[in-house]
Amino acid sequence: MACRKVDRAIARKIIDSIDNFLFDCDGVLWEASKEIPGSADTIAALRKLGKKIFYITNNSGKTRSQYVQKCKSLGFHAAEEDVICTGHAAAQYINAQNLKGKVYCVGNTSMGVELDSFGIKHFGIGPDEVPGSIEQIGIQQHINLDPEVSCVLVGFDPHINYMKMTKAASTGAVVGAIKIPARKEPVVVGKPNSVMFDLLKKEHNLDPSRCMMVGDRSDTDIHMANLCGMDSLLVFSGDMSYERLQALQTSADTDDKRNLIYLNIIVIN
Ligand SMILES: [Mg+2]
Repeated sequence: MACRKVDRAIARKIIDSIDNFLFDCDGVLWEASKEIPGSADTIAALRKLGKKIFYITNNSGKTRSQYVQKCKSLGFHAAEEDVICTGHAAAQYINAQNLKGKVYCVGNTSMGVELDSFGIKHFGIGPDEVPGSIEQIGIQQHINLDPEVSCVLVGFDPHINYMKMTKAASTGAVVGAIKIPARKEPVVVGKPNSVMFDLLKKEHNLDPSRCMMVGDRSDTDIHMANLCGMDSLLVFSGDMSYERLQALQTSADTDDKRNLIYLNIIVIN
């Protein structure tokens, strides 16, 4: 993939050839609860040009509706159908599988709200204390496994502990710790996998050749864009800096080189 800095001519080409802009959120539109200066104006200007804006985030700690509220509080126009986050996407994905039985959710209350919105039976959110002594933990009969569980859903869980990992045996390090004893390869909903874009594409009838992913990470945002056949725009307001990009370009490290191949178009803001 060619890797180019955005100048006026490229910006013109982007505006002419792209109808749908998919924005990563953290590090692109905001840092924690503060808008990254200029981002709300950029979204408003693109909307004025008739462009469709989507918000796509790997953060499972909020529901779609909570993201809409956050967008509005920071000056970004958003409706629920414009937002796709991992909690909602996972619930939508599970619903489409027509699974019989319950979901054991190693996650948070927002993920529970998303599962509830599809009427999916679930349990596991919140603290799960270890009963008795340390010796008892390893004895299987002290852990009540529910035979009706047909799916384990893993996201950000502030209460993760040995009990939950044992029951799930079934984000990131937690998935790694769970997938080996479970002997199952997980379906990963977050970027760089295509699940969230596939859902958006189906719901909004999107043509990937008229879409652009805007993100601050080459290994998630830009990688997903490449997998899905979209153009991509890397911004330096979050995870990546211009200096780090230059260092990556001269690095002998194979992981660094692999991340670079995902770069398509670069913008400095
Ligand atoms: Mg980001």
